[in-house]
Amino acid sequence: MDIHVLSLFPSVFSGPLEASILKRAQEREALRVHVHDIRDFTTDRHHTADDYPFGGGPGMVMKPEPIFAAVEHAAGEIDSRLGADVRAPTPVVLLSPQGQPFSQKLAAELATQPALILICGHYEGVDGRVEEHLATHALSIGDYVLTGGELPALIVIDAIARLLPGVLGDAESAENDSFAAGLLEGPQYTRPATFRGLEAPPVLLSGDHGAIARWRHRQALLWTWQRRPDLMSQAELSAEDRAFLDMLKQATGSGLPSPG
Ligand code: SAM
Repeated sequence: MDIHVLSLFPSVFSGPLEASILKRAQEREALRVHVHDIRDFTTDRHHTADDYPFGGGPGMVMKPEPIFAAVEHAAGEIDSRLGADVRAPTPVVLLSPQGQPFSQKLAAELATQPALILICGHYEGVDGRVEEHLATHALSIGDYVLTGGELPALIVIDAIARLLPGVLGDAESAENDSFAAGLLEGPQYTRPATFRGLEAPPVLLSGDHGAIARWRHRQALLWTWQRRPDLMSQAELSAEDRAFLDMLKQATGSGLPSPG
């Protein structure tokens, strides 16, 4: 997959893209990230990329011209690499606190695309014509405001990269991760089995794979029900899951049982 990122602060990307799984994904050529400096697409001698907001107000707004030019340049590079005739229109994603909430489902959808263009805003934001006439998506990574779209873009890249074929080994499979099946993943433990008198759950040391899988699934149900009840309505639940949840609900008030 080719991801083109447009930013006023390209140096933000170097560290995260040069470590761990993102580095490996690029070495394996499952992922190619191209970071473009929006300032390179300005046309005046001061390389002006922002200006005062129309109508007044604090801060600066990113100008539309260099962003449109940078997206057109990135789209041209994608065309020449992938072939303009065979590819579907490339998603152009504006990172924005007012965007659609980013989710594992959206990451999985975007991971099927051959290419992606991400636009990072800064200052007070981006001229409205970028979202209205250039972007195909506006994505928010959460209900808080960051200084720029660079960290949100890295989050989107990271979430997508680990879903690309060949990036994670079997041992790191994304299938059991939180949200993959609509539930949170439960707790994990490793050696030592007893640490400062605190024991890891004995079932995990039992060697009984059926019992371990059942325990993990029940922990996932318990945590999701306790911590993110909003996810329960979307989760695919078996009759056994429903019976377990009914038991949890009945036990509320008298202390939750361990899902053994
Ligand atoms: N004035 C804007 C507002 O009140 O919504 C905030 C602009 S923010 C300081 C600058 C840029 O950071 C945004 O244009 C966007 O690209 C990025 N950004 C900040 N928070 C974000 C979030 N939660 N999700 C995605 N992008 C975000």
